[in-house]
Amino acid sequence: MIPARIERARCVACRRCVAACPEGAISVDGDACVVDPLRCVACGRCFAACRTDAVRLAEAAGA
Ligand code: SF4
Ligand code: SF4
Repeated sequence: MIPARIERARCVACRRCVAACPEGAISVDGDACVVDPLRCVACGRCFAACRTDAVRLAEAAGA
C-alpha cells in the first residue's frame, strides 16, 4: 500500500483533505498539508477532496 503524498507547491492549505481523511493522517505544516505515511490507508478521500490537484496517490512510489 502506497500512502498519499501532498505536493507542497500545489497545496493551498485549504484543509479540505484534513476534514476528509478518516484516519486523521493529514496535518497542516505551515503553508501546506502533509500526510503521515504511517497512518494513511490509501483510501483516496483526500485525492477526491482536493481542488488544486495537490494529492498524489500511486505515483508517489516513484517520487
Ligand atoms: S488516502 Fe485516505 S487515509 Fe490516506 S491521507 Fe488521504 S484520506 Fe487520509
Ligand atoms: S485539499 Fe488539497 S489544497 Fe487543500 S489542504 Fe489538502 S492538499 Fe492542500
